[in-house]
Amino acid sequence: MSAGATSSGAAPAGDGTPDVLIVGAGLAGLRAARVLHRAGLSVKILEASDRVGGRMATDVVDGFRCDRGFQVLNTSYPALHAALAPHGLDSLGVRPFEPGAAIRAGDGELHTFVNPLRRPGGAPATALDDLFGPLDKARLVAWTARVLASPPSRTAARIRDSGADDLAAAGLGGPVTDRFLRPFLSGVLGETALQTSSAFVRLVWRSFALGTIVVPDDGMEALPRRLAAGLPDGTVEFGVRVHEVTGGSRPSVRTDHGAHSARAVLVAADPRTAASLLPGVAEPTMNALTTWFHTPPVAPTGEALLHLDGTGGPVVNTMVMTAAAPGYSASGRPLVASSVVGVPGPDGIGEAGVRRELARIYGVPTDDWEHVHTAEIPEALPLFPAGRPVRRDVELGDGLFVAGDHRDTPSTQGALVSGRRAAQAVLSSLGR
Ligand SMILES: Cc1cc2nc3c(=O)[nH]c(=O)nc-3n(C[C@H](O)[C@H](O)[C@H](O)COP(=O)(O)OP(=O)(O)OC[C@H]3O[C@@H](n4cnc5c(N)ncnc54)[C@H](O)[C@@H]3O)c2cc1C
Repeated sequence: MSAGATSSGAAPAGDGTPDVLIVGAGLAGLRAARVLHRAGLSVKILEASDRVGGRMATDVVDGFRCDRGFQVLNTSYPALHAALAPHGLDSLGVRPFEPGAAIRAGDGELHTFVNPLRRPGGAPATALDDLFGPLDKARLVAWTARVLASPPSRTAARIRDSGADDLAAAGLGGPVTDRFLRPFLSGVLGETALQTSSAFVRLVWRSFALGTIVVPDDGMEALPRRLAAGLPDGTVEFGVRVHEVTGGSRPSVRTDHGAHSARAVLVAADPRTAASLLPGVAEPTMNALTTWFHTPPVAPTGEALLHLDGTGGPVVNTMVMTAAAPGYSASGRPLVASSVVGVPGPDGIGEAGVRRELARIYGVPTDDWEHVHTAEIPEALPLFPAGRPVRRDVELGDGLFVAGDHRDTPSTQGALVSGRRAAQAVLSSLGR
């Protein structure tokens, strides 16, 4: 199997080996490959699985597009636009979510919050909503204003505190966090304690304030497929697992099928594998997420609005995917994606338990909802703890380089940036 739509591009070196070997065809590896290819180097990607995309994947189950865990793109991610140039984000056929969220609160009411920066007309109703008191609202507005006023580079330097500490210091540690920010952020971070660095929490909040959430109509895998389509045919070799990486004047990798060498080796595998292959790359704690997909006879809402549970229940977010992106269902039946943090064990919440929670969140009976699929992702996202710099080294010496969301932020933006940074480091080390 091969990826890549063009047959142009740099030829491999005279001895048949590529200039650069990349381990892994996730977002970071694909982004790096495109930068290197455009700079005129020959690239080979060795990919252990049978498709591109890594953690960004879409499984088709009974005609429904089930992403490997609830994932979205944000139009304010600069790296996304850079990676898709010159065709742009619209070329993915993206469909927007409504800007805001509906929160099911302990009083049984559904409170709808509209992002006033994206939809100013919704601001008065949001201002009058009584989920929080006026002081909490004023503090949230003030914190948001501070986040937006700070350039991303300065925000990225705020690594001392955790998100929880930052919110507490802003006076938001009580109801605003418990009813709104925790369910919202924990679905993004894969952890509920908000121990993630405040730098990343603020960057996430900034991107949601300024951007629109979108998904490609044919699933999130459209993004890595598009990146791969910009590479020469045969760039990606599938079903090849790298077991060992060795640096030196001619760095090399060992696979099931033999050894390969190149002028540079760039490891863009998942964080745990990267740590096992490369000395000096620490193994991160990985956060887990599980998403259940259901099809109800009738959609519980026609609005493409993310729903959150503000009561501290296990389902942190849920979304009628087909309200935003009809392409997620071949039959026209609705598809609902609902996520919990972690992977529940045998005593944890099961499918029936999730449906009970959804009945409360949406305020409709869910007994006749059909279970389509469950995506358990034990290693969804590397924890980005307080104290860690936002950008970590991508050049390891001896011809070895590393990319992936563990080198930047645990996100699409972070994975793409890391791929570009690593490719630039390779170019500079090869005198380009
Ligand atoms: C459930 C979930 C929800 C998410 N939600 C969002 C979201 O809403 N917004 C957002 O911005 N980000 C989100 N993310 C994060 C985003 O998907 C990841 O940060 C990004 O996809 C990571 O890309 P990567 O290239 O760094 O790594 P990966 O995607 O892990 O790619 C690594 C690749 O290396 C391959 N590989 C591994 N080992 C080897 C080996 N030994 N030999 C050869 N190949 C190997 C793997 O098969 C894989 O293809 C989410 C992630 C998950 C899992």
